Amino acid sequence: MKGLPDSVFKLVDHSLAKPTRVYKLPSSEAENLWIKREDELSSGVSGSKLRKYASVIPFLKKHKIESVAMIGGPNSNNLIGLAQLLRENSISPIAFIREAADLQLRGNALLLDMLLAREEMNFIPRDNWDAVATIAKQFLDSAAMKGKRSHLLHEGCFGFEALPGAMTLAADLLRNERETGESFKRIYIDCGTGLSAIGLILGLEVALESGAIEREIVVTLIAEDQSGFLEKLESMRFALNKVIQLSKHEKTKIRFLHTRLSPKFGSINKSLFDECRLIAKSTGILMDPTYSVKHYNAAKHDCREFPLDGSSLFVFNGSALGLLGFQDKLST
Ligand SMILES: *Cc1c(COP(=O)(O)O)cnc(C)c1O
Repeated sequence: MKGLPDSVFKLVDHSLAKPTRVYKLPSSEAENLWIKREDELSSGVSGSKLRKYASVIPFLKKHKIESVAMIGGPNSNNLIGLAQLLRENSISPIAFIREAADLQLRGNALLLDMLLAREEMNFIPRDNWDAVATIAKQFLDSAAMKGKRSHLLHEGCFGFEALPGAMTLAADLLRNERETGESFKRIYIDCGTGLSAIGLILGLEVALESGAIEREIVVTLIAEDQSGFLEKLESMRFALNKVIQLSKHEKTKIRFLHTRLSPKFGSINKSLFDECRLIAKSTGILMDPTYSVKHYNAAKHDCREFPLDGSSLFVFNGSALGLLGFQDKLST
């Protein structure tokens, strides 16, 4: 069984992209549904983000970057995750944050306020948000930053630097299969910018030997649509093709799911929090409402509606830390 090719493997800090475990969920949830605990990669950074940083940080160090501009909403998991890793590596963060509707400091907004100094935070009015990447670039090019080696990371850390790290999910999942003797014919993964799911798909393409099992990757669309996702997948495949020779894997099928609970990205309602409490009682897992509860609910229903002859795997990319901003909602 092959892992990732050397040209990809060597771009990753493997002390960050560590192995994570899989186990079977109670059958009252769905038949033969397993879970991969990506949340266990870190206590303070949501799982899928840490895999991305596992190649972003080596990239920044290799280019001796001193300052990083990062972009996100006030409750972004990416901003607080990156802030932690940049601090750890003595790289200065400069955040460009969408102005919040909720002025109270709670959840990720509070954690970001703890991690960054006032002068490291730039709040961008909502009606100017479309121009945020340009504003961040202009700042990095300004006189104040003269002589400093700087780099811009896009929203959700979407970019080729993050792809090798995201691809480690595929290699680790193949290790899980070897060690458990299972083969996961269907894999459920959630999608914000899509990079984590793209990393999984491309990672499987390069890590699998020919003649591997037929697999279905089911992508829950939380903050992206189907055509946007497929476009990004092709652009990443194109970029990766320049590093390694890819042969398209005909045996991987992609299917999309929409969320049933409070579908608009970032929206919340009572059923979402009811489900969050229910998941905790039935599985023992504390899931973040923004991504994971919506993703799990969609995957569980899909499993029940389309049972599979074989095992499925749910990728839990989130973190219990995502509950922090919703304590008042969860307790009523
Ligand atoms: C950021 C995040 C995602 C989105 O990951 P992408 O790689 O941007 O698709 C999914 N789930 C959780 C829990 C996240 O924090």
